[in-house]
Amino acid sequence: MLRLSDIKLPLDHPPEALTAAVRARLGLADDVPLDVAIARRANDARRRTAILLVYSVDITVADEDAILARFPGDPHVRRTPDTGYRFVAHAPPGNTTPRPVVIGAGPCGLFAGLILAQMGYRPIILDRGKVVRERTKDTWGLWRRGVLEPESNVQFGEGGAGTFSDGKLWSQIKDPRFLGRKVLTEFVTAGAPPEILTEAHPHIGTFRLVTMVEHMRATIESLGGEYRFGTRVDDLDIDEATDGTRTIRGLHLADGGYLAASHVVLAVGHSARDTFHMLHDRGVHVEAKPFSIGVRIEHPQGWIDRARFGACAGHPDLGAAAYSLSHHCKNDRTVYSFCMCPGGTVVAATSEPGHVATNGMSQYSRAERNANSGIVVGIDPARDFPGSPLAGIALQRHWERAAFVAGGSSYAAPGQTLGDFLAARPSTGFGSVEPSYRPGVHPTDLAECLPDYAVAAMREALPVFGRQIPGYDHPDAMLTGVETRTSSPVRITRGQDHHSLNTRNLFPAGEGAGYAGGILSAAIDGIKTAEAVALSINAA
Ligand code: FAD
Repeated sequence: MLRLSDIKLPLDHPPEALTAAVRARLGLADDVPLDVAIARRANDARRRTAILLVYSVDITVADEDAILARFPGDPHVRRTPDTGYRFVAHAPPGNTTPRPVVIGAGPCGLFAGLILAQMGYRPIILDRGKVVRERTKDTWGLWRRGVLEPESNVQFGEGGAGTFSDGKLWSQIKDPRFLGRKVLTEFVTAGAPPEILTEAHPHIGTFRLVTMVEHMRATIESLGGEYRFGTRVDDLDIDEATDGTRTIRGLHLADGGYLAASHVVLAVGHSARDTFHMLHDRGVHVEAKPFSIGVRIEHPQGWIDRARFGACAGHPDLGAAAYSLSHHCKNDRTVYSFCMCPGGTVVAATSEPGHVATNGMSQYSRAERNANSGIVVGIDPARDFPGSPLAGIALQRHWERAAFVAGGSSYAAPGQTLGDFLAARPSTGFGSVEPSYRPGVHPTDLAECLPDYAVAAMREALPVFGRQIPGYDHPDAMLTGVETRTSSPVRITRGQDHHSLNTRNLFPAGEGAGYAGGILSAAIDGIKTAEAVALSINAA
């Protein structure tokens, strides 16, 4: 099969135009037998008056070698890559190997568990939160009634942090082994729409994620894996040899139980602050890492659609428009859009009582009234939170508590119109953009909930963004805070072999360990970590 890329067609092209474009590109006559399958579809909306669909296609045709010979060095005509996944190891027959333990049932732990199960290692997956249906009720409990369940919420429980999300499934990480394809294929098997395999920027929205997570649990269990929910790991049992080598031996659980464990995947996500403290206390190598803080911004989705797509706004092939923005400021800070959710809602994303943190989610249809996105400022340990490896957690907590108080100490979030924010004037009400955050938004001054350098940077960047997307800096655009959980504030450092730098057979993985940012990259890291665990078990 051959892969032909960069085929551009107008938005409303008839279906047969694609095959015609392939024939024209390759110089194939109409009577040459040809089969064309779409491998990837993106849109190019740089010229709003001439929006294009951009295809990569796989073609089946006789005499591929002769065609390739006519396009030497052309990066857009090549053999279709082999994207199939191959297991790096298999458990020996007879269930004789120790069962690996995976801490965390988010995308990273889920894929680590799935791959280990598919290789025959019968993993045990622990999660401090609840099974996804029960967790959904608790999460909505905060959003609807302002009641936070500290062990079962938007961050903790089956499916992990991305369960109630926009379900964006792309990543900019290098993926030479096409592990992302393995992730998307498993998601489709679990019930995701098949177009996630071909869309350049696929997303699945919240409700489908819930059923997919359940489906994947059933698969893992059918392969001999086991889940234990409501099982928080509170301490590690580490063997210290006389030569100083440290090796994981078991896990102490919150209910007082003990689980012997010779190989442990640590996929606890970026909000397991108590677990980070425990790891640090136990001497596991942890270091501070950069992350970002800021606010969520909301505009009517129609404004963004018209700014992006002009007269084609609302076209079914384009969907709700997304955006990506970045500005480097005079104070040497970078402000950028983060986790943009077209047609979605801003959600309460705290896992700690007395704190407020924001994030965004959407349904598959992306049909809600507002577009939302984080507008965040990059911060780093040396400049902004020097000292302890855990200082970033203290900084997050400080501003999340400030947001809780500014919001009225009821889990309502502090909010401000963009016009008032730029004028350094507290808001006393809202304009034409209705904030979507639940349980509610309290008009106030967001400068009370963010460091001065972040406020200054955002005040510089927002008008710049308004020149890129007309209406972006409209005075009624709505800001809600605070966005603090953009990525992990720590790295649980590992070596090339995926073992913790100073604790053998402990495999830090995913977003919490600082090795992923987003659902797809966390899942890919779960696969890589499962492979490292399997090779380590077989070598023992
Ligand atoms: P997590 O998903 O955080 O999973 C960690 C798991 O570990 C949790 O289930 C937790 O309960 C468990 N755990 C923690 N500590 C312990 C312990 N001590 N013992 C036992 N279990 C423990 N990313 C995207 O790519 N696209 C999006 O559209 C998107 N939208 C998002 C929307 C929201 C509201 C949020 C909060 C996040 C969103 N993200 C999105 C980010 C994405 O969810 C994360 O990058 C991803 O979930 C990280 O996966 P993970 O498996 O590393 O960690």
